[in-house]
Amino acid sequence: MNKLAKSLANYVPLTPVTFIKRASMVYSNRKSIIYGRATFTWQQTYERCCRLSYSLRSLNVYRNDVVSVLAPNIPALYEMHFAVPMAGAVLNAINTRLDAKNIATILRHSEAKVFFVDYEYVPQASVALRLLMMGSKDSSEGQHRMPLIVEIDDINKPKGVSLEKLEYEQLINDGNPEYSGEELEDEWDAIALNYTSGTTSEPKGVVYSHRGAFLSTMSLIQGWEMGTEAVFLWSLPMFHCNGWTFTWGVAARGGTNVCIRNTTAEEIYKSISTHNVTHMCCAPVVFNILLEAKAHERRRIISIVNILTGGAPPAAALLEKMEDLGFHITHAYGLTEATGPALVCEWQSKWNQLPRDQQMRLKARQGVSILTLADVDVKNRKTMESVPHDGKTMGEIVLRGSSIMKGYLKDEKETAKAFRKGWFLTGDVGVIHPDGYIEIKDRSKDVIVSGGENISSVELESILLKHPVILEAAVVAMPHPRWGETPCAFVVLRKTGSTTETEILAYCMKYMSKFMVPKKVEFVEVLPKTETGKVLKKELREVAKTLNISNTTRKTIDLEMNV
Ligand code: ADP
Repeated sequence: MNKLAKSLANYVPLTPVTFIKRASMVYSNRKSIIYGRATFTWQQTYERCCRLSYSLRSLNVYRNDVVSVLAPNIPALYEMHFAVPMAGAVLNAINTRLDAKNIATILRHSEAKVFFVDYEYVPQASVALRLLMMGSKDSSEGQHRMPLIVEIDDINKPKGVSLEKLEYEQLINDGNPEYSGEELEDEWDAIALNYTSGTTSEPKGVVYSHRGAFLSTMSLIQGWEMGTEAVFLWSLPMFHCNGWTFTWGVAARGGTNVCIRNTTAEEIYKSISTHNVTHMCCAPVVFNILLEAKAHERRRIISIVNILTGGAPPAAALLEKMEDLGFHITHAYGLTEATGPALVCEWQSKWNQLPRDQQMRLKARQGVSILTLADVDVKNRKTMESVPHDGKTMGEIVLRGSSIMKGYLKDEKETAKAFRKGWFLTGDVGVIHPDGYIEIKDRSKDVIVSGGENISSVELESILLKHPVILEAAVVAMPHPRWGETPCAFVVLRKTGSTTETEILAYCMKYMSKFMVPKKVEFVEVLPKTETGKVLKKELREVAKTLNISNTTRKTIDLEMNV
């Protein structure tokens, strides 16, 4: 047996890049991309990727070079997911909501060789490039090579290039359609570089391998049962973990990508009804946008639209409201370091018999590992012992498998910290239920430790969200003279709702264990959030420090607790 050797015929590096060539043959005339008036077939998309890849090589882009791009969900960004790795290079899709300073930091840290900029983002990019130039002059590390700039004009209504001489379509025109890309020699080579949003620490450059991206893509199209007729709406930014790998996944299924520049409620509803969208991904924050849409922005959901949601905990109450509108929701959990979703709340048919609210509570759990992940567990962070499957004992969620990042770019210290005893530490705290499903309780930094008890802010938020007039809620720790920390709730009310702190506290007393009841409720217009809808709890904790414990809780709760 051992004598049977690997050869190029039976041992080929895994990469999702191969999906595009297959799509061009199997689904050649099927629509690959719709973007306003611009549409392409899979055959055309493949040809455009070959051309762009060839042009990148002509611009001296080689193996392991970083190609950065600042663009919304447009066809060019989709094509770059294939064309850049076909040239052997690494795609770095930058978050479009970042300011110029952060963009400059990423360009410097990644040593981007080429920087593609969508016409709408020229102002930020210009400032970022100026900062990069100034930074490199002052830098003790010496002069940093400036990236070559390529502007991406509007494909539907070209506006003329303003930033530099090179334009995207020109690179496509100048490319060779016969060029099929560089042969991948090692599946461990990097395919993408994605910077974390930095909600808990400084942004870090997460590097994905071709192998990891391939396996994640396979898992997600399988786990979500995405068929070959899928019409996928790009409501999730492609810069976010490469669109949770669906950039590559839609090509694998020969589906249709519906690209939109802005994710407004109107645009989402309109695209769904015009193109008969079957699948879309989004963070739970988009649910509120869809639910709160004005009547003239809405369209009726006639056939089922499957939504894969994740990135933040979706409250059971919110899931129910979305399903009532006609969306079918699958809940996933993941993080940049895991190439997007790592767990999925796989539905069990026996749950169909349960009452609706119970079904939604089950769906709000983060679930079980995606198919190609080797293992997942919840462990005591100090001892690395597994916690019992009792749905109560909290520990850190840990993962292992090929879709876990290669590591953080140029950061050995942080990379070493992220891995322990063959596991990747997620920094999230959760429990395992007796049926093996994992439920996240908090990010380790957000757990509230009150009088030695761990309080899950996620749990309190999900209870608050069941209150009829509360639209959004975020609970953080505030200092307490006796308990060390105590929960402080920030709430946003529905436009039509009104209530008082006393009433909300009475509601909490009814539905929460006494020690969990927030000692302060602060009404706010909006919650500070990242672009993906994650609440910036670091900021709220600072505000909470300046607030006083509510008089109502002093009287009612502390009395009951015999303080
Ligand atoms: P950053 O860590 O920089 O904020 P990520 O996008 O990688 O950026 O965020 C990953 C984090 O998002 C996870 O560690 C977890 O805390 C949270 N998260 C992701 N999916 C879910 C989910 N379904 N439920 C609860 N939290 C989630």
